[in-house]
Amino acid sequence: MAYQNFFRKIKKGNKNHGFPKFKSKKDNNKSYRTQCMYRDNSVPSIEIKENKIKLPKIGLVKFVKSREIIGQIKNVTVSQVPSGKYFISILCEIPEPIKLLKTDKGIGIDLGIKDFAITSEAEIIDNPKYYRKYEDKLAKLQRQLSKKQKGSNNRNKTRLKVARLHEKIANTRTDFLQKLSTRLINENQIICLEDLNIEGMVKNHNLAKSIADASWSSFVTMLNYKSIWYGREISVVDRYFPSSKLCNVCGWKYVNLDLSVRNWICPECGSNHNRDVNAAINIFKEGLRLIS
Ligand SMILES: [Zn+2]
Repeated sequence: MAYQNFFRKIKKGNKNHGFPKFKSKKDNNKSYRTQCMYRDNSVPSIEIKENKIKLPKIGLVKFVKSREIIGQIKNVTVSQVPSGKYFISILCEIPEPIKLLKTDKGIGIDLGIKDFAITSEAEIIDNPKYYRKYEDKLAKLQRQLSKKQKGSNNRNKTRLKVARLHEKIANTRTDFLQKLSTRLINENQIICLEDLNIEGMVKNHNLAKSIADASWSSFVTMLNYKSIWYGREISVVDRYFPSSKLCNVCGWKYVNLDLSVRNWICPECGSNHNRDVNAAINIFKEGLRLIS
């Protein structure tokens, strides 16, 4: 009955009341999961009809699909995030994906500073539109939050705004990374990347930087599982490999290359280098060497 109540209230647009009791009210992410199988070996019936999902004991609930649901539904988890919104995550069992046809194309990718990444083909992969704007807004809100008195109503309101913006940024980022990783996997047989010290980076206090690092880390995760699904290869280059400092044409090493130098000419062979493209080409070459 508790759940019937809760969903009836959601439908009326009353988001903050009637949610069933969770184990701990202090949990930031409150959630409940349906069982995969009952004691009598029967399976809960969960069905999706357009924009509605039928849940056991609850019935039909309206929801917004973030992506296509394929395969057989095993269970669903309903959760409430700190901003107060409800999410349903659906666990499906899917048949073995069909491997893509092999291609001879490969690519190296260098993580960008201003942009998301640069490829060995000199493609600049921009961060999603509005991203910078959201980041600035988030930094501003967080400064406001730190000045508000603990336990005050104003503080709670600001905290909710911060949580909503975090969610918006995360959703924009996930969507962007899903599309990008799918495209790169479709186009290339081998993708070469840098191994970044994510643990060390998470401790970084610069907000924009920490978001970029988190993006990179989930991007690498997506590429890894998609490469297994579709029969592609990912080659990870050691983080101490001097990808920026080597001339990709003759191998000369620019020992004291400063971060501010964006373009340079190799004194040995005269090649003109864009710092990031050169790094991406070196990552590609080194990645190929490692798997050959
Ligand atoms: Zn050179």
